[in-house]
Amino acid sequence: MQLFRATIFHTPENPLHLDISDPRALVCHQDGGLLVDKGRVAACGDYAGIRDANPGADTVDWRGGFILPGFVDAHVHFPQARIIGAMGRTLLDWLDAVALPEEAKMEDRAYAADTAALFLRALASHGTTTALVFGAHFADATAELFEAAARSGLRVASGLVLSDRLLRPDLHATPERGHRESAMLIERYHKRGRLLYAVTPRFAYSTTDAMLEVCQQLMSEHPDVLLQTHINESPAEIGALARLFPWAGDYLAIYERYALSGERSVMAHNVHPTTSELDRLADAGTAVAHCPGSNAALGSGCFPLKRHVDAGVTCALGTDVGGGVGFGMLKEGLHAYLMQRLAPDPKVLDAARLLYLATRAGAKALGLENEIGDFQTGKAADFVYLQPPAGGVLDAAVRHAGDPAQALAALFTLAGSESVREVRVEGDIVFQS
Ligand SMILES: [Zn+2]
Repeated sequence: MQLFRATIFHTPENPLHLDISDPRALVCHQDGGLLVDKGRVAACGDYAGIRDANPGADTVDWRGGFILPGFVDAHVHFPQARIIGAMGRTLLDWLDAVALPEEAKMEDRAYAADTAALFLRALASHGTTTALVFGAHFADATAELFEAAARSGLRVASGLVLSDRLLRPDLHATPERGHRESAMLIERYHKRGRLLYAVTPRFAYSTTDAMLEVCQQLMSEHPDVLLQTHINESPAEIGALARLFPWAGDYLAIYERYALSGERSVMAHNVHPTTSELDRLADAGTAVAHCPGSNAALGSGCFPLKRHVDAGVTCALGTDVGGGVGFGMLKEGLHAYLMQRLAPDPKVLDAARLLYLATRAGAKALGLENEIGDFQTGKAADFVYLQPPAGGVLDAAVRHAGDPAQALAALFTLAGSESVREVRVEGDIVFQS
């Protein structure tokens, strides 16, 4: 047994419905102990009490540092790891000019393997232990991601991206091929170790009714795979859908027709939902991945977080690399905070709520809330150890903080990968600096 000693934060309860001053929002142990036995959380609390009760445990002394649950990135694209930072474009023009040409390069299996290695290193080095990942439009490239993910030790849910129109011909598949290759990848990778499969229609814009029907078929043939897609991201995209699916009353109705909205589904963005769509997402148990950096970078709009929370929709944070601006989930939390400061109908966030959105909420979105997301006894010991570089501004800020919540706020504001010292999944080291 190992006992990790540091300041520990986690959010076992959803604080989004609590009053902003409610102390139950954040669980903090300033001189904390996280006891890990065979990869599971055996105890989490004050160090001295846990040490006294477990004299045989080896203490790992990380005093001065911080332990958080491993981050869960609820929406990210592996083939886009190299194209972060394109500026001045909006969704459809960015796809044509920046994203899709790079995604087409994934036809080269070696290039895809290099990209997968880069991508997984980037996740781990930023403290992300679980991610719901858009694969490639090519089965071989998506298999490379799964193989590299298995070696990395991270929890990765991913799938072959399906499209059969309006992207570029080399990224289109027939519905028959989409079904055959998805089924093959599910067979090979779903529930292999820490891997999960997610059926992945890119978005309704690039999928005909026939392809969406294939997705429905895959979901019913494999009753425990996930589904990921995009919804209501940009006004131009939403406008185009009215022409492509004239029968649909709104964007969500397209997915609903093929039974793609439900507890196994995570839909990214939803920046421009109707009230009816929010109610139906909440009723179905569909989660929304909120990607504030991407929404700002592509000028997609300001996410109505308050409307989602009030409607009862599960929201989690995603980086949406490469429309998003980096792999850091702490930074993504900061973007969410900043966007809500400027939102017309704001949801005021603080460090506890950002931590929830970056960890426990993502676990819930992926159906893994009984396994990961916080440090309740029996859960997998997935965690990140943060230690700000000595002598830097963040180091000074956390030492100067009047209370632990203020230190956590400083971490969300200032910490990047340089502060990530060690990352573990089920107690196994997956990154060390
Ligand atoms: Zn995306």
